Amino acid sequence: MLSVAHRVSIPAPHTHVVHVQTTIAGDVPDELVLFMPVWTPGSYLVREYSRHIEGLVADAPARVAKIRKNAWSVRGGGERVVVRYRVYANELTVRTSHVDDSHAFLVGAALFLGIEGHETLGARVEIEAPKEWRVTTSLPASPGAGYEAPDFDTLIDAPFEIGTHRQESFEVQGKPHRYSIWPAGLAGDADVHRLVDDTRSILAQEASLFGGSLPYEAYDLLLHLSPRGRGGLEHASSAALIASPSAFATRDGYLDLLSLVAHEAFHAWNVKRLRPAGLTPYRYQEECYTRLLWWFEGATSYYDWRVLRMARLCSVDEYLDHLATEIGYVDQTPGRLVHPLEEASFDAWIKLYRPDENSANSTVSYYRKGEVVCALLDLEIRARSNGKASLDRALAMLWEEYGARRRAVPEDGMQAIFERAAGVPLGDLFDAWIRSSSEIDFTPTLARFGLTLERTARPDAAPCTLGLRVRNDGGRATIAVVTRDGAAWRAGLDAGDEIVAVGGARVEGASVEVTLRGRAPGDTVDVVLARDGRLLTRRVTLDPPRHDRVKLVADRDAPPAARDAFTAWLGEPHPAWGAGGATP
Ligand SMILES: [Zn+2]
Repeated sequence: MLSVAHRVSIPAPHTHVVHVQTTIAGDVPDELVLFMPVWTPGSYLVREYSRHIEGLVADAPARVAKIRKNAWSVRGGGERVVVRYRVYANELTVRTSHVDDSHAFLVGAALFLGIEGHETLGARVEIEAPKEWRVTTSLPASPGAGYEAPDFDTLIDAPFEIGTHRQESFEVQGKPHRYSIWPAGLAGDADVHRLVDDTRSILAQEASLFGGSLPYEAYDLLLHLSPRGRGGLEHASSAALIASPSAFATRDGYLDLLSLVAHEAFHAWNVKRLRPAGLTPYRYQEECYTRLLWWFEGATSYYDWRVLRMARLCSVDEYLDHLATEIGYVDQTPGRLVHPLEEASFDAWIKLYRPDENSANSTVSYYRKGEVVCALLDLEIRARSNGKASLDRALAMLWEEYGARRRAVPEDGMQAIFERAAGVPLGDLFDAWIRSSSEIDFTPTLARFGLTLERTARPDAAPCTLGLRVRNDGGRATIAVVTRDGAAWRAGLDAGDEIVAVGGARVEGASVEVTLRGRAPGDTVDVVLARDGRLLTRRVTLDPPRHDRVKLVADRDAPPAARDAFTAWLGEPHPAWGAGGATP
């Protein structure tokens, strides 16, 4: 038998350096290969975590040699091999480690070495942190000291928050839950208490969708408040969250935070325990491919807001506004007609996580189109089954047959499962929305729920457009994206070009729109560009304004059956139909 112990110490947090000492003892083979994962589950990009390792050595008599970018061979150590290394940790995201003089957030995949061929081996972890710091992780305490992970998967799946974070404990279904909030002072008492109350409602609602009970023994929510970004990463017994410190200040900000919490918690079932075959088992040294992220991220995105609605944490109007925004995103993404949803999932490693100026033209987010498609699937299943089934039923069936039994979902198995849940054929929808990149026609599906999609230009928009997106580069208007087949695309404007003047008017700041006032679609205009140190002029034929303001509007003449279907979907009639809107 082998035993593994990792001792982690942070003697000088302000240097962002973590020291790790790994001891492997027992029946040690003459050669061991140690590796660091190149990615972490839930975030589908090869991140090359090993680039932050420094000074890896083994205690004599063992000899260590680096054999790949992320792997080392250790020979001749006898019964006890000790390996020491340092890890530089200075990237504040949910999937990278961050250490500074205020805290340490440690991500297992970016910290611990695994032993090839021994991934089922457990490990003990001891943390030596500055005196006033406390350690929070979902790993269970070890009978001796520190923490115990039963296998490498669990070790990698349990991030650590170490520092002076605020801790708020609560129970759901009698199981312990904890918020750990860093930095401690950034959220007020009332805000934290409201967040805890609403999180309770979210988890109870999610449990009810998956047969009633929570899938874990205890759950940690590690919440970082920072203006540096927004994001989450799911784990089996915890979630890492990053949100703006202003999340509590506005209704929109708070709903966004709640949807993030609902999203990562939903993953405790959907993707952590209910898993696609392509991600089973995790292979940490290479990409793991799945075509099913349209479901595992798309459905999780659909349910994060729907759960807020089911738990009465947002209004019908707020819910519909959110869904309309997602539809607007799909509308405004030319890549929807290029890249089928399931291929966008497969290509996550090279597309979604590696955005560039051509992304919007060549691909579509499996989160956002996935959410829209899952919403439409829900509505179609309800409509085709005359209200007898819904996406909730497909979800419950997936959980019962696969998640609860720890069987991986076959990569080509979704349609059959959905059809069994719905009791009607759905192949046409899978072909149109998931397997191909054809345009989605929302109208017939929405009409059966009394809704119409209204697309208009922003009221303050210019009367015509160049068909591009601009970013403000220190007061310069730099083209960020040229929309496929739009006015700028046809005229040969490029991402990276600076727009100097439009129609003889100097572009001041980054405001291009103001130069388009008084012009009309079909007009031609000369655009002066700066590109690679040269000035160029291109003649552009202006397009009609983008109809990027999307609203889901209740049809006042919707028949009673459509109003009833709407009410069954969102829990109450649309406000536009009034209190007596639903038929008795
Ligand atoms: Zn997710």
